[in-house]
Amino acid sequence: MEQRTALVTDFDGTVSADDFFTMIARRYLQPKDLEPWNLYMQGRLSHFEALNAVFAEIRIPEAELIAFVKTIPLDETFAETAAYCAKKHIPVYICSAGCDYYINILLGGLIKRCGINLITNSGCYSPQTGLVMTAPRESLFYDAKVGVSKAGVVAHLQSQGFAVVFCGDGPPDVRPARIAQTVFAKKYLLDKCREENIITRPFHSFGDVLAYLKEV
Ligand SMILES: [Mg+2]
Repeated sequence: MEQRTALVTDFDGTVSADDFFTMIARRYLQPKDLEPWNLYMQGRLSHFEALNAVFAEIRIPEAELIAFVKTIPLDETFAETAAYCAKKHIPVYICSAGCDYYINILLGGLIKRCGINLITNSGCYSPQTGLVMTAPRESLFYDAKVGVSKAGVVAHLQSQGFAVVFCGDGPPDVRPARIAQTVFAKKYLLDKCREENIITRPFHSFGDVLAYLKEV
């Protein structure tokens, strides 16, 4: 029997053109607000702790935050890819070390329409607390350092007999890229894959992923 394919993708910088973190920091945060991120880079805070500490510094009216999130550009070929997968019964998982708050503002409609599985932290915003993420502790894919284990999602799908196509760009994407059958990598992840001799495919947009899915 032919092996079934599943698509697992990162969100920030992969489905979206730029990270929510980077864009919000550039527009609304001060260098001192980013100190937790420096501590993460030095290995002194976890990814989850650092992101939560930085997001807690956002203190703008919620309507302004929502309007700002809507300015984050998306890969225009992702919607077409998701629609193709829905039609072909290829499961799609968006796995993010960020949170559902901004992913749902940007992609909530498509996620519902195409039956995409969103595996991420839950985010709650108020101008009094900032954006507060809660990790899915009850989830099969809970990971204390990042909130969710993308490698856990990939391994779970593989244990069910799927060949996994993984797309990503950042540090939390290295572990899933090591085990996925096919890897589409950008930026930091692409450099890491080259360093570790992980075979990757050219990845300029989801159009490349869609072309590949139509071949297999
Ligand atoms: Mg990313």
